[in-house]
Amino acid sequence: MIILKTEEEIEKMRRVNRMVGEILHILKNNVKVGITTEHLNEVAENEAKKRNAKCAFKGYGGFPKALCTSVNEEVVHGIPSRKRRLKEGDIISLDFGLIYDGFYGDSAITVAVGHIDGEKKKLMEVTKESLYRGISQAHPGNYLYDISQAVQEYAEGFGYGVVRDYVGHGIGRNLHEDPQVPNYVPSATDRGPMLKVGMTIAIEPMINAGTWRTKTLKDGWTVITLDKKPSAHFEHTIAITESGPVILSEVN
Ligand code: MG
Ligand code: MG
Repeated sequence: MIILKTEEEIEKMRRVNRMVGEILHILKNNVKVGITTEHLNEVAENEAKKRNAKCAFKGYGGFPKALCTSVNEEVVHGIPSRKRRLKEGDIISLDFGLIYDGFYGDSAITVAVGHIDGEKKKLMEVTKESLYRGISQAHPGNYLYDISQAVQEYAEGFGYGVVRDYVGHGIGRNLHEDPQVPNYVPSATDRGPMLKVGMTIAIEPMINAGTWRTKTLKDGWTVITLDKKPSAHFEHTIAITESGPVILSEVN
């Protein structure tokens, strides 16, 4: 069941999502050669505390940390560690969520560590653009898979693999609500549910330089590409309004 939100509820979601966006911006500025992924987790926790917000991922399904840090071939759900130091040329996906005043915020960015090669740079640019192309379809009266199609067509146009095993999601008083928001069109005949005013969804393309296929490491969390080629991830929480999509997690 898709839960529609009132304007007042969307305003609360704007507040928490803006905090997530602010903290991701701070984390981006902390990404440097030689720091550990655990350092980023600590920064995220401190910034959440300053805002009296609760970290949404910590303990969620047993996830041990506040932040997901996924480096290079890691797609999502990488676990911050004191042993993992960032190297020149890495790319790192930072996925963060908060709860504040009863509502969840969720957003992700991928950041370059120092100087990165052209292949990774292109992958990051295309993934971010695919997110915005998906968002641009989020008008009332369109259908859910119009979003999926926009992401998929753009990313596959560059020969990239669109991850199928993990998808975006509705969000609100729960981190994961209906509907699931795939980044590929899962049906040749169905366009998915119609988009309505008051829907709040997290759109989050995970795009691989090679195959779309993934596997999970023995830690039970870290998802990597099957061919070990790099992967990028960008995510925004948006609201569907009369006048179209509004990005709640964007910070200007
Ligand atoms: Mg996320
Ligand atoms: Mg999400």
